[in-house]
Amino acid sequence: MKSIRQSFSVPFEYQVLFTNQLFHTTNSLLADLLKSEQKPKVYYVIDNGVSEAHPKLLQEIKAHATYFKEVYTLCADPLIIPGGEQAKNNTDYLQQIVEATHLYGIDRHSYIIAVGGGAILDLVGFAAAVSHRGIRHIRIPTTVLSQNDSGVGVKNGINYFGKKNYLGSFAPPFAVINDLDFLATLDERDWRAGISEAIKVALIKDAAFFEKMEKDAEALARRESQPMQELIYRCAEMHLEHISGGDPFEMGSSRPLDFGHWAAHKLEQLTQYELRHGEAVAIGIALDVTYSYLKGMITEAELLRVIQLIKALGFKLYVPQMEQDEILKGLQEFREHLGGRLTIMLLEKIGKGVEVHEMDTKLIQQAVNRLEVFEETDQIV
Ligand code: NAD
Repeated sequence: MKSIRQSFSVPFEYQVLFTNQLFHTTNSLLADLLKSEQKPKVYYVIDNGVSEAHPKLLQEIKAHATYFKEVYTLCADPLIIPGGEQAKNNTDYLQQIVEATHLYGIDRHSYIIAVGGGAILDLVGFAAAVSHRGIRHIRIPTTVLSQNDSGVGVKNGINYFGKKNYLGSFAPPFAVINDLDFLATLDERDWRAGISEAIKVALIKDAAFFEKMEKDAEALARRESQPMQELIYRCAEMHLEHISGGDPFEMGSSRPLDFGHWAAHKLEQLTQYELRHGEAVAIGIALDVTYSYLKGMITEAELLRVIQLIKALGFKLYVPQMEQDEILKGLQEFREHLGGRLTIMLLEKIGKGVEVHEMDTKLIQQAVNRLEVFEETDQIV
C-alpha cells in the first residue's frame, strides 16, 4: 500500500472593532482596514430594515467612498435586501448576491460588506464564502444579537428543507465592525432579543457576568446605552475566546454555545418565525434551566434567579407551540445538524454548564408545564 500524508494548519486572525459614526468622513477605521497596494473593489449588501431606519445611510456610504476614493472603489450601488429570517428562507437572495459577484467582477481581493442583522450577515457571509471559493467579507452588525454573538463568529448559512442553517459554512470574516449608533433604531423586540445570547454565555461560563446582568436588568429594559455597550463587549469577547479556545469548526459532537438552542431553533420554525431568534433562545434557556432544576442539578434559588432575570427583561417564557410533540423533534434535528452523539448543554450551577447525552422527554414536558405557570403568574414552583 502507498500513502502520502498531508498536514497543514492555517492561522485565522480577525479583529472585532467598536466604533461610532462609522461612515462619517472623519472616521477612517474602514478605510484603514481596506488600504492595500491594489485599490480594492467594495460591494455592499444592506438590510432594508437598516436602510429604512437610517435614511441617510446610502448617501453616507457613497460620500465615504468618494472621500476615500484613493483607498477603495464602490463597484456598484449597494444591494438592499429585506431583513429578518425571510432573507435566509428564500434562495433568490443568495442568487442575487452571487450574480452580483459575477456581474461586477468581485474577486478574492475585493470585499463584500454586509450591513444588517444576524440574518442578513448569515446570508451574505454564505454568499461570499461560496463565490470564487471565498471572497473577503466584512460584517457590520446592526442588532444587539449580531453585535454580541452571531456577527462576531465564524459561521454563516441559510435555511433549507425548512431547517435552520441547513446550508452554510465556517468562514472567518476579514473583520467585524460594531457601530453602536445603529442600535438606537431597533424596535423593542430586537433591542431585547440579543440579550438572551448574553444570558446564555454568562450562565454556562461566567457567574459574575450573570450577576452584572441582574444588576443592570432594569437599565437594559429602559434601553440605557452604557450597560448595553458593556454587555455587548463582554459577550462578544467571551464568544471570541470560546471560538479560539475550543473547536471553532465544530468537528466534535459538542456545541456549548448552543445552550438553549435545541428548542429555540425548533420553536422559530413552529411559530413560522414569528418568534425572533433571540426570543426563542430566551425560552430555550428557560426550558433547559427548568429541566436542570427538575433533574436535581441546580437549586430552586438558582432557577428562580434565571427565570426572574428573563422575565425582568421582558421576554416570554412560554408559547403554546411548546405543547406540540413536534418540539421534541428539535432534539433529533439538533443532533443531526452536527452528527455524532446527542450532546445537550445543561446547567450545573450559575456560571457553569455541563453536557449530557440523554434527555428525558417526560421531564421536558414537565418543564414546559412549569414555564406556562411562570409565564402566567409570579409563582415559580
Ligand atoms: P434579524 O437579522 O432577523 O433582524 C431583525 C429585524 O431587525 C429585521 O427586520 C431587520 O431588518 C431589523 N434591523 C436590523 N438592524 C436594525 C437597526 N439597526 N434598526 C432597525 N431595524 C433593524 O435579527 P438578529 O437577531 O440580528 O439575527 C437573527 C439571525 O441570526 C437568525 O437567523 C439566527 O439564526 C442568526 N444567528 C446566527 C449565528 C451564527 O453563528 N452565524 C448565531 C446566532 C444567531
